[in-house]
Amino acid sequence: MKKEQNPAPKGKSGKRTFRWAWLWIYGGMLLYLVLSPLLTGSGGVTEITWQQFAVKILSRKAAAKLQVINKERVEVYIKKSFATDTAFKPAFSRADGGPQYMFTIGSIEGFERNLDEAEKNIPMNDRVPVSYTEESSWWRGILGWILTFAIIYFVMGFLLRRFPGEGGKSVFSFGRSNATLIEKEHSTVTFADVAGLEEAKAEVLEIVDFLKKPDTFTRLGAKIPKGVILIGPPGTGKTLLAKAVAGEAQVPFFSISGSAFVEMFVGVGASRVRDLFQQAKEKVPCIIFIDEIDAIGRTRGRGAFLNSGNDERESTLNQLLTEMDGFGTNTGVIVLAATNRADMLDTALVRPGRFDRHIYLELPNRSERAAIFSVHMQGLKLDKTIDVALLAAETPGFSGADIANICNEAALIAARRKATAIVKSDFSEAIDRVVAGLEKKSKIISAEEKRVIAYHEAGHAVVSWLLPGVDALVKVSIVPRGKSLGAAWYLPEEKQLRNESAFRDHLCATLAGRAAEELVFGEVSSGALDDLEKVTQEAYTMVVYYGFDKKIGPVSYYDSTGQRETAIQKPYSDATGELIDKQIRALVADAYSAAKALLAENRGALEKLAECLLKQEVIEKDQLEDILGKRPALEAGKVQLTTVKQELYEPATEPSANI
Ligand code: ADP
Repeated sequence: MKKEQNPAPKGKSGKRTFRWAWLWIYGGMLLYLVLSPLLTGSGGVTEITWQQFAVKILSRKAAAKLQVINKERVEVYIKKSFATDTAFKPAFSRADGGPQYMFTIGSIEGFERNLDEAEKNIPMNDRVPVSYTEESSWWRGILGWILTFAIIYFVMGFLLRRFPGEGGKSVFSFGRSNATLIEKEHSTVTFADVAGLEEAKAEVLEIVDFLKKPDTFTRLGAKIPKGVILIGPPGTGKTLLAKAVAGEAQVPFFSISGSAFVEMFVGVGASRVRDLFQQAKEKVPCIIFIDEIDAIGRTRGRGAFLNSGNDERESTLNQLLTEMDGFGTNTGVIVLAATNRADMLDTALVRPGRFDRHIYLELPNRSERAAIFSVHMQGLKLDKTIDVALLAAETPGFSGADIANICNEAALIAARRKATAIVKSDFSEAIDRVVAGLEKKSKIISAEEKRVIAYHEAGHAVVSWLLPGVDALVKVSIVPRGKSLGAAWYLPEEKQLRNESAFRDHLCATLAGRAAEELVFGEVSSGALDDLEKVTQEAYTMVVYYGFDKKIGPVSYYDSTGQRETAIQKPYSDATGELIDKQIRALVADAYSAAKALLAENRGALEKLAECLLKQEVIEKDQLEDILGKRPALEAGKVQLTTVKQELYEPATEPSANI
C-alpha cells in the first residue's frame, strides 16, 4: 500500500523540541532518584559501624535512644549531657537535634541479638530504649513506576522509528498485508506484451470483459468466476498474464506471494489475508494476484505429524476460503493465483465458487518462442543477420523468462564489446551463459586435469553420437562455466513421449564420461558427481515410476496427489524395496558396461576428439561430424504422439555433465 506514512514535514522542529523536553524530564527524574537518598534520610548524620557503636557509645552509656528505620538502618540519638564531650562534639555540631549517628544492619534479629549480648550485664531499666519505624517513601515508588513506563515508552518509540518494517511499515504492523498495489494508471502491461499463450489469453479475456463491462454479464444472471488459477512451470508468464489482465481492464492490481502470508507468528497469515481483502474491497473493481499459492493452499493435514507448524498454514488457508466465500460473486474483486504444483492444492480451494477456473500455461513451442523473442527484441538494436526462427529452434525447453534473460544478456555482451549492434554470436554466447553459467577462464586447471576433463567430455560426445536415443549433440566444451568444468550441449527434440530404449541410451551417454576416464587413465575422478546423480535419479524413475523393469512389473509408485510422505510411508514392502534397489543397480551397471564397450570399440575417435578439445577447447557440430563421421541413422523406435500430456520427463536442456 502506498498510504502516506509520515505526512506533513512541517512542524518538525516543534516536534523535536517536544522530544527534547521529554528527554530533560526523564533525565531530571533519574538524577533525582539517584541523588535523593544522599540528600534525605541520612543527611548530616555520621555513619558508623556496629563495633564503633558498641565500643564508643554503648559502653559509655552515651545513647539516649535508638530508632530502627525500615528494618535496615539504626539511628542513634546521643544524650544531651554528652554534647560537650570531645568524642561527640563534631556529631552534635552537624546534627544538634539528632540523630547524631547511624549504622546499617543485616537483619532485625541479628541486631537484637547483638544488642542483648552487649547489654547483658545492664539491668532492664537502664537499657537503651529501641523504637521501630517504617518510613514510607510512596512518592519514590510512584516515581519509579512512572520512570519505568517512561523509559519503556521512550525505548519503544526509538525502536519503532529506527527499525521500520518492510515497505516503511513499522515492525509491529506484521498483521497487515504487504501486498504491492499497482494503481490502474500504472499498469502498463497489455496482451501485446504476452507472446504465445493464445488459449490462456482467450480464457482470461472473459475476465477482462467482466471487469470492464460487468452489466453485460450480470444482466443475464451470469456468475463470473471469483478465482482463477494459472498453472505452469516457472517463467512461463503467469505473473505477466495476470498483470496483462489488469492492464487491459484498467483496474488496480494487488500482488502478493503466498509465502508472504506464512510468518513465524501464529495468526499473522490469517490477519494478512483479511487485510488484503479489506484493501481490495476499497478499490473495487480490482485484481488480487497471489503468486505461489501452493505455499498456503497445499492439501491440509499433509505431513502433519512431521511438521506441527502446519496449523498456521491451515488457518491462513481457512481464512482465504472464508474471504472468498464471503464476497459476492459479482463484487468486482477477482483473485488470480499462480502455482506450478496444481496437484498439491487442497480440494477445498479448487472447488466451484472458489478457484474453479484452471488455466494451464506450458513451456512455449518453437513458434511461440519465436514470438517471445520478437517481443523482447523490440527495444534492442539488432544486426540484420539475426534470425529469430533459428534462435527459437536453438532454444527448446526454454521458458519465456529464459528467453527474456537471453535477450538481455545478449545486449549486455554486445555492450561490453562496445558494438553498435547485437550480432548472432552475442546471442549464442548468451544462450550458453543462461544454460551453463558464466565462462570462468580464470579458473586454474592443471594440464593433467584438463586431459581428464577433455577425455570425460569426449566420452559423452562419442557415445551420444553413436546412440540413436540421445538428443542431437551440438557442441562440446572444456571451458569452465558456472560450477561445471566442461559441458556437452544437446538439442532436445520436442517430443511428448520417450521409450525405454531412449532412456537406456541416455543413461549410457551420461555414464560415458566416467567410462572414458576409466578406459584411458585406468582410474576415475570425482568429476562425475553430477552425472551419477542424474543417472541414479533417472534409473529410479524408470523402475519406480514408469514400470520399465521386468521383475517389478508395470506398476508405478508415483504419487501425483503429493499426499504421501515418501520418506516415511513407503508404498511398497521391504522386499520390494530391496528388489527396486537391486534392479536400479543392475540397470546402471548395464549402461556403464555398454558405454565402456562402445568407447573401447571407438577408441580412435575418442582420442582424436579429446586431443582436438585440448587444442581448441570448444568443438561445434560441423567439426564433430568431421571427426566422428555422419551420425548413424536413428532408427530407435521413436513414438510420435504429440497429443500426450507433458510431465513424463524433463527436457534435457542443461549441459549433461559436471565435467
Ligand atoms: P511466472 O510467474 O510464470 O514464473 P513471469 O510471468 O514472472 O513467470 O515471467 C517472467 C518474465 O518472463 C516476464 O516478466 C517476461 O519478461 C518473460 N515472459 C514469460 N513468458 C512470456 C511470454 N509469453 N511473452 C513474453 N514474455 C514472457
